[in-house]
Amino acid sequence: MTAPVTIVGAGLGGLTLARVLHVHGIPATVYEAEPSAEARTQGGQLDIHENNGQPALEAAGLTEEFRAIIHVGGAASRVLDQHGKVLLDEPDDGDGGRPEVLRGDLRRILLDSLPAGTVQWGRKLTGVRSLGGTRHELTFADDSTVTTELLVGADGAWSKVRPLLSDAQPWYSGYTFVETYLHDADERHPATAEAVGAGAMYALAPGKGICAHREAGGILHTYVELHRPADWVAAIDFTDAAAAKARVAAEFDGWAPELTALITEAGSAPVPRMIHALPDAHRWDRVPGVTLIGDAAHLMPPSGEGANLAMFDGAELGKAIAANPGDLEAALATHEAAMFARSAAEAADAHEILEACLGDRAPFSLIDFFTGG
Ligand SMILES: Cc1cc2nc3c(=O)[nH]c(=O)nc-3n(C[C@H](O)[C@H](O)[C@H](O)COP(=O)(O)OP(=O)(O)OC[C@H]3O[C@@H](n4cnc5c(N)ncnc54)[C@H](O)[C@@H]3O)c2cc1C
Repeated sequence: MTAPVTIVGAGLGGLTLARVLHVHGIPATVYEAEPSAEARTQGGQLDIHENNGQPALEAAGLTEEFRAIIHVGGAASRVLDQHGKVLLDEPDDGDGGRPEVLRGDLRRILLDSLPAGTVQWGRKLTGVRSLGGTRHELTFADDSTVTTELLVGADGAWSKVRPLLSDAQPWYSGYTFVETYLHDADERHPATAEAVGAGAMYALAPGKGICAHREAGGILHTYVELHRPADWVAAIDFTDAAAAKARVAAEFDGWAPELTALITEAGSAPVPRMIHALPDAHRWDRVPGVTLIGDAAHLMPPSGEGANLAMFDGAELGKAIAANPGDLEAALATHEAAMFARSAAEAADAHEILEACLGDRAPFSLIDFFTGG
């Protein structure tokens, strides 16, 4: 094959695919809506798993670069009740099974590993149509067009490529995560820093929780997790930082102040992340010349797997294309069959994890989940 593979979306899925193709000598072009790599902070720490994220980075030839960005000690986790009492404390055992890295660092090592010009920034896909056979025409926000022989939608939850394959639309799961940050926590908020500990902290009750992660540099990154209808979220003016913090904190009346400080003392405005999902067993019939990876294919509630799965999809698809240069339809069929089975199982697990975190038995259900009880 000579025409470059066309990838839409420079998230972790699309970039891993581009890199694995490059390792196999196959050119790719990635069209990304954001104007540059620095346009949006890639906040958040991800644990990279032995069974999907790590093998994907190995296929990308980036294991050494990945090892260099690990946040040592960050894999510790603890579960608290709403009074701040520690119910489970699991230190980072350092066995390397789930090392933590910053999403931005991971994206950077992938970007640095690609030939210059692979990622076309500021190219927002607005429409795509079939030209017959395996060919498609992409139209971008600047009215430019590109014709492809092999198109991969790695453009996340609201994929513009997905309608070529499926009518499915993400639905609101009923959960909203409100994101906050505390900076210089060890100096400015020592009780809160102590409560969070060295890694991840989950303070949970039925229907709500405060979950924080210690990031490098004394940063505490929090997701306030709430089971609430969409109109509850819509009624909060998140552009008014003080009012939004007060409104979200009001949901935690009576909780330990070192926990609610993760909301009330946040350095910037809280950001709501309404959690959407595609149907658990989302799949489609083969359409020549196009496929999906990552959230575009299998958006599911956060379970610590989404970014890992996106990278794994990218690596597996890259390997399948490299193994079948003369029969790309066979490569896409192989990729899709394996991805459908994998993501259906992971989506079921994701619902179980959400239930363990915020269901009627929280926080004890999460302790059972961690301890196999
Ligand atoms: C609150 C929250 C916490 C999470 N925590 C974790 C975690 O701890 N661990 C984990 O593994 N996963 C986690 N996830 C899931 C994870 O973030 C996603 O599954 C993962 O980012 C999917 O990667 P992707 O490459 O498929 O898509 P994305 O990361 O969404 O990347 C898609 C890219 O496509 C671009 N794009 C979109 N539309 C267009 C367009 N029209 N034209 C061009 N480009 C476009 C976007 O700008 C973006 O760069 C979390 C998710 C949420 C919401």
